[in-house]
Amino acid sequence: MTFLPNSVEARDIAYQLHPLVDLQNYGKTGALVIERGEGVYVFDNTGKRYIEGLAGLWSVAVGFGEMRLSDVAKAQMDKLPYYHVFAHKTHGPSVDLAEKLIQMAPVPMSKVHFTSSGSEANDLVVKLIWYRANALGRPEKKKIIGRVKGYHGVTIAAGSITGLARNHASFDLPLDRMRHVSCPDHAGMALPGESEIEFSRRMAAELEALILAEGPETVAAFFGEPVMASGGVYVPPEGYWQEIQAVLRKYDVLLVADEVICGFGRTGEMFGCQTFGIEPDVMVLSKQISSSYMPLSAILMTEGFYAPVAEESARIGTFGHGFTASGHPVATAVGLENIRIIEERDLVGNCRRRSPRFLARLAELAAHPKAKAWRGIGLIGAVELKPWQQAGAAGAAFQAAAMAEGVIARAIGDTLCFCPPLIISAEEIEAMFDAVARALDAISE
Ligand code: PMP
Repeated sequence: MTFLPNSVEARDIAYQLHPLVDLQNYGKTGALVIERGEGVYVFDNTGKRYIEGLAGLWSVAVGFGEMRLSDVAKAQMDKLPYYHVFAHKTHGPSVDLAEKLIQMAPVPMSKVHFTSSGSEANDLVVKLIWYRANALGRPEKKKIIGRVKGYHGVTIAAGSITGLARNHASFDLPLDRMRHVSCPDHAGMALPGESEIEFSRRMAAELEALILAEGPETVAAFFGEPVMASGGVYVPPEGYWQEIQAVLRKYDVLLVADEVICGFGRTGEMFGCQTFGIEPDVMVLSKQISSSYMPLSAILMTEGFYAPVAEESARIGTFGHGFTASGHPVATAVGLENIRIIEERDLVGNCRRRSPRFLARLAELAAHPKAKAWRGIGLIGAVELKPWQQAGAAGAAFQAAAMAEGVIARAIGDTLCFCPPLIISAEEIEAMFDAVARALDAISE
């Protein structure tokens, strides 16, 4: 495609390096330029309207154009646009949000530390786990277990826990302390006649065998998303988290719940941990914490996790860690107002009310001759297509056809994923899936 010189499209190709593209061939297609947003819709630079079926990157819970958030940001910018929380300094917005998160947490949590992205937060959790192991006089207990198709970010440690080959290849990842167990995909991986609970027990047995093979004295933590999202949306089968947690407790292995996508209502409860009865030692939050209006993430830790970290910092003389933007006043002020909106408008309840039709429409799509399966819970779900000759081609075509019909959704391989803003109405759900059904017919011709 050729673009007018000096157009956004042409300058984008000239100057910007984009994630998740073939960089060398990026210029052949370029980018869709999104100019503005309103509710569940975004508009491109030709004025075409799209339903944002993935809420940006699984994150814009309150929808686009929420003026309460821009008003709070402006007021905080005017009053104190920046201050830090290093070395005996603090400010109100970071304290207010930390207190709110501790009050909301589904299990008793003791301390909050703010970061700016999910990757940064997960990377820091790994550092804290290693620091804590040294504090406890167990310097060997530092291995981390993630899952195939799990996603925890792209920084060096978080990217290593991520279980996706494309995020490892040629980056010299994963780090050698990282291990992976299977993705809990019952529909795709069950043995003939194996029930969900039997499958969950097999997944737990695999985890136990890995811990025993490595030596329990070397395994520190297990990282998991309550519902795996960026790997293709995998809802855990019956009993999965109960079985996994029993193994972790048996071998004194910490559980880190990566709630970056599930947190703040996505699964029909405020946190995915509540939906699945997960009792984590550490929770990682981001995305819907601020509806991505500002970069923000948070790590919540139990007192049992925190206490040895505090003791170690006293021994060393200081806690030798900190980010310039940690607890950023504009980000935390926006985060708190965003959570107030989620609560006042009962967006978690809206997720529960909209979910049955959302899931029913996914099931309808999956009945199409070109489709293979659907998965989902709350307002997160996916439809998997039967593969064409080349893996990923069907998914890419489906994504493009949906976009032509005015819906932005995300293809991961041959799976098209949906995760709309939590404000979505009944009518908007029907409109979104009517358009997606037309797209599926169009690529089937
Ligand atoms: N954890 C999970 C579960 C995620 O879905 C993501 C992002 N999709 C991350 C971590 C990484 O977050 P970020 O892109 O903000 O670094």
